[in-house]
Amino acid sequence: MAKANFEVPELQQYLEVPAVTPSTMAHSSPFVSRLEFQEPLGFPGELADDWQARALDKFGELLGKYRSLRVYLDSCVKCGSCTDKCHYFLGTKDPKNMPVGRQDLMRKVYRRYFTLAGRFFPKLVGAEDFTKEVLDDWYSYFHQCSQCRRCSVFCPYGIDTAEISMAAREIMDSIGMGQKYCNEIIAKVYKIGNNLGLPGPALLDTLEGLEEDVYDDTGVRVRYPIDKVGAEILLVTPSADFFAEPHVDGLIGYGKVFHEAGVSWTISSYASEGANFGMFIGSYENMRRIAQRIRKAAIDLKVKRIVFGECGHAWRVAYSFLNTLAGPWDFLDSRYPVPQHICEFTHGLIQEGKLTFDKSQNDDKVLTFHDSCNVARASRMGDRPGGQFDIPRAVIKAVCNNYYDMDEETIRDRTFCCGGGGGLLTDDLMELRVKGAKPRVEALNNVMAEKGVTHMAAICAICKSQFTKVLPFYGMDMEQIVSVHQLVSNAIVLTPGEDDEEPEDEDDENRDAEDDDDED
Ligand code: SF4
Ligand code: SF4
Repeated sequence: MAKANFEVPELQQYLEVPAVTPSTMAHSSPFVSRLEFQEPLGFPGELADDWQARALDKFGELLGKYRSLRVYLDSCVKCGSCTDKCHYFLGTKDPKNMPVGRQDLMRKVYRRYFTLAGRFFPKLVGAEDFTKEVLDDWYSYFHQCSQCRRCSVFCPYGIDTAEISMAAREIMDSIGMGQKYCNEIIAKVYKIGNNLGLPGPALLDTLEGLEEDVYDDTGVRVRYPIDKVGAEILLVTPSADFFAEPHVDGLIGYGKVFHEAGVSWTISSYASEGANFGMFIGSYENMRRIAQRIRKAAIDLKVKRIVFGECGHAWRVAYSFLNTLAGPWDFLDSRYPVPQHICEFTHGLIQEGKLTFDKSQNDDKVLTFHDSCNVARASRMGDRPGGQFDIPRAVIKAVCNNYYDMDEETIRDRTFCCGGGGGLLTDDLMELRVKGAKPRVEALNNVMAEKGVTHMAAICAICKSQFTKVLPFYGMDMEQIVSVHQLVSNAIVLTPGEDDEEPEDEDDENRDAEDDDDED
């Protein structure tokens, strides 16, 4: 069991609403961003003396720009329905982690400066001045919201605390109080092309290494191309897929599926990142700049289709906003969805009978599936309502013999966040991450005990990274979390290509010649 310098919650068989314990997480704040990470994003480097006036200007601008924000701040009736729905409240007991408690941090400032009653009778309507103490509370608790939207499912008015949290972060960024983790990552995307700062040559090395590994394992030459002009498909995937475990096993699976489909595809070294952290910081402008890279890559590489790999928030940005952010996509093949999810792509081939599987290759596992929040509650997949729930499960069941869902109150649109989404996947928030994972880990623990489940599959890079880190705090194994396309990869029966039996040196020559042709 991983050691913690905080109390790891005890797992319960049934979901228990904890007794409210104020300020248990008041100490939890991520590192504040520095000038070098603020400036590339267009934000001031540090808090200025007139921060309050600037913050209120920005607040007013957002209220004018996003009507939903004003509606959310005006319409809460304090019914209490959301109070026990947030995984961070359930794991930390802190009332400011109740969705309504989190909203009230912004609502009291809104009332003070943007409502008549709050200007003249602040005490009567719960309005408060925007002091430095209040700002510090914002910084702490708006970075204890993974923007998962679970609370909005249960709110009779549909109030979306995720949107409030995004607005708060946008206001804080605009006055020089950004979060280091997110802003450093976005700066890397602008400079190098991906969240991890992996340069093109390192990517090429990695992909060549994967080709060798797959050949050694299977005797079949599966290609993992990069910057291949004229390929049919551009694969946009989170950079964690290039090296992290179990993400890379998913990438191996995508390549095998493309191989069997007989389509040409490529990764772009320019837009080698599916993630878009602009959404986490609520910055439309940064979200747009990041998304525009995909457009440029698609045009430069002359592709016909765009397929996204396994990444929850990247899929939300792609599915819900890509057309607004970087469209129109009229230069792509209109017979295919723009964009298409890799699960949708694989599922389509399964339905057409174009893939052959040996399901027994996954018989060492009993599977369950974790619905990732941004896929479950902020997007769809395929052409039918609920496709985002049904398609990944159908893919898993096509490649595995043993599958069980977790408790229905914890899956599909009621799924619990992994605890590390929304820009919180950083070691300076480890206590929050472990405690926030409790409801999901409890449901996993129950299905392990009742059905003998051994592994949990996911289609989100952040969920996979989060679970590899936090499962050991609950006495579980980090390898219990797997990629959906890792399961596909294990079971898929590959068709040998013409060059598969050739000697190694000759084969390399063929490959060089093929690469030369591609460049032509
Ligand atoms: S969006 Fe998710 S993390 Fe944020 S308050 Fe609602 S339930 Fe909690
Ligand atoms: S469920 Fe909605 S209306 Fe009820 S307290 Fe929560 S935010 Fe307010």
